[in-house]
Parts: sequence; C-alpha cells; structure tokens
Amino acid sequence: PRYQSMDPEEMVRSVTALAQHNTKNLRVVVESQPESREVQCDPEQIKQLLLNLILNAVQATREDGAVTIRSFFEDDAYCVEVCDKGQGIPTEARESIFEPFFTTKETGTGLGLAIASNIAAQHGGTLTFRPNEGRGTIFRLQLPASEAVA
Ligand code: ADP
Ligand code: MG
Repeated sequence: PRYQSMDPEEMVRSVTALAQHNTKNLRVVVESQPESREVQCDPEQIKQLLLNLILNAVQATREDGAVTIRSFFEDDAYCVEVCDKGQGIPTEARESIFEPFFTTKETGTGLGLAIASNIAAQHGGTLTFRPNEGRGTIFRLQLPASEAVA
C-alpha cells in the first residue's frame, strides 16, 4: 500500500459523492465533525473499502431509505461508521460474513467484506459490525490516528 497522511473527511466526502449515484437513488448522508487530525493510510484502498460498505448498506436498504455515514475521532482512533436500517445480519451469518465467497446474494461475490477486513488489518485497524438501533446494521472501520496537526 502507498501510505500518506490524509484528511479523512476528504476521503469520506469523495466516496459519499460517488455513492449518491447508486442504483436505488438512496440518499447517502454524512454526519461528521470538523477535525484537524489526519490518518496514515492508502487513500485508494480506504475509499474502496468504504465504497464496499456503502454498497452493502444500499443493497440492504429500501428504496425510500437512507444510509448514514458517521465519522469521528475517538481517543487514538479514527472511526467511520456506515449505518443502515436494512434487514440486519442474521445470527447464523455473523461468523461467516468476513469469509471470502460468503454471500447471501444471488449475484454476490462474497469478496467485499473479506477484502475490506484485510485492508483494515494492513492499516493496523479493525472492521467490526453491530446491530443498528431498532433495525439494520452498523459497520465500523477504525484506523490509528496520527498526531494532531498544529
Ligand atoms: P456480497 O456483497 O458480494 O454478498 P460481502 O463480502 O460484501 O459480499 O458481504 C457478505 C455478506 O454479508 C452479504 O452477502 C450479506 O449477507 C452480508 N452483509 C454485508 N453487509 C450487510 C448489510 N449492511 N446488511 C445486511 N447484510 C449484510
Ligand atoms: Mg458486498
């Protein structure tokens, strides 16, 4: 990977702009706080990872729904959460979703999350998920944050 110091908001904004052109015309909403910290990462890989999470969220969401991206720093980590109000991940699938070729979709590859979790690990970060409040799923990418920029 080609690591560089990045303003994470820039990545989130550019991926979100791309994701507005999704097949369902769902709104992709960003909620983030302005920050002066940066992250060391390969921006192309992180954007690819986020796009995969957003496309999964779009596929899980009804036509009139929305997908929300939250981005924030927490202690020494930068976090991006992709939140949907879709069908959620059934208990019996929770162990398998990061495995290559695991898919519940008719034309899925099952590679999106496997690749995404490898990218997160290569960055010294993590990719986790939890049920969203009420309904749906939240995927969280957590990356080590750099020192504050003066
Ligand atoms: P694919 O999208 O090709 O199926 P992924 O690796 O991206 O492969 O996802 C694997 C599986 O994890 C999906 O088939 C689906 O069952 C489940 N999954 C991933 N994201 C979500 C989500 N946001 N909501 C519900 N299920 C999901
Ligand atoms: Mg996918």
